Amino acid sequence: MAGEFELIARHFTRPPRRPWLGVGDDCALVGIDAGMQLAISSDMLVEGRHFLSTVEPERLGHKALAVNLSDLAACGAEPLACTLALALPRADDAFLAAFARGLYALAGRSGIDLVGGDTTAGPLNICITVFGQVPPGQALLRSGARAGDELWVSGTLGDARLALEVFRGRVALAGGDFETVRRAMELPQPRVALGLALRGVASSAIDLSDGLLGDLGHVLARSGVGARIDADALPRSAVLAAQAPALQHECLLAGGDDYELLFSAAPARREAVLAAAHGAGVAVTRCGAITAAPGLQVVDARGRELPVSWHGFDHFA
Ligand code: ADP
Ligand code: MG
Repeated sequence: MAGEFELIARHFTRPPRRPWLGVGDDCALVGIDAGMQLAISSDMLVEGRHFLSTVEPERLGHKALAVNLSDLAACGAEPLACTLALALPRADDAFLAAFARGLYALAGRSGIDLVGGDTTAGPLNICITVFGQVPPGQALLRSGARAGDELWVSGTLGDARLALEVFRGRVALAGGDFETVRRAMELPQPRVALGLALRGVASSAIDLSDGLLGDLGHVLARSGVGARIDADALPRSAVLAAQAPALQHECLLAGGDDYELLFSAAPARREAVLAAAHGAGVAVTRCGAITAAPGLQVVDARGRELPVSWHGFDHFA
């Protein structure tokens, strides 16, 4: 791409906050604390698949990093650095300036450095890799859920899906309500502080990117257990709570793009869970339990089983 190096110099070259080697050489050089394990995760965002062309570039920069930080959060890892591989149809300075603003704002709040990447011409495609650290043996994993554990979820679920249904023309919302759910879709807040606080407290964790039922299914498969979800207990915004019950259930259970943490903990750790959430400044809600019997049961407050035909989001489905 013409001007590749100017674009990198202009938009993606800021000195790292730590004494590291960042953008400008063939490799970045990043230190981790003695005895820590490196936690690594990549997430790619493709236009039309993971975001709509209507999204403001600043929000896109935020979201591209947020979905990656959410993976570190789910593991209870402390974020350190990230790289950015970017394909762009053309050298669009205004787009890049806004995109970089959104990305660096979240990077700054999260205390991480953008230390490298790649920039090339092509269909708009954003791939970020994040690096974090975690003490050996302390990462939160999908495999740790045990029968009898309680299931918890952070924040509220379903707003991002509700926003998508507005964009699809299936749902109409008043302007203020639309902006509320649109922010949930475009400006997710990765639960990094909560993930760190849940180390040694939660028995398993996953971040919700593809819908609660599908993502919980990964935990159940890795842990060799089943679960019961209380659909009426699932936390939702006032905007979602005003929708028809069937649409609420769909958004809550099969929504996707929530970027909240779903985690399990022994009942004896209930106070510790609440203390962790309080310390992290994030609400958490108990919404079910892990069962020895395999399978996933979704019940309402009266214990009636809901027919569950939704799946998590599958990009190849
Ligand atoms: P190379 O050809 O050796 O892979 P490049 O010329 O692609 O290196 O990149 C030059 C420098 O700019 C490298 O340090 C690389 O990590 C960095 N870089 C390239 N694109 C980006 C980007 N989008 N964000 C951050 N750093 C980038
Ligand atoms: Mg290169």
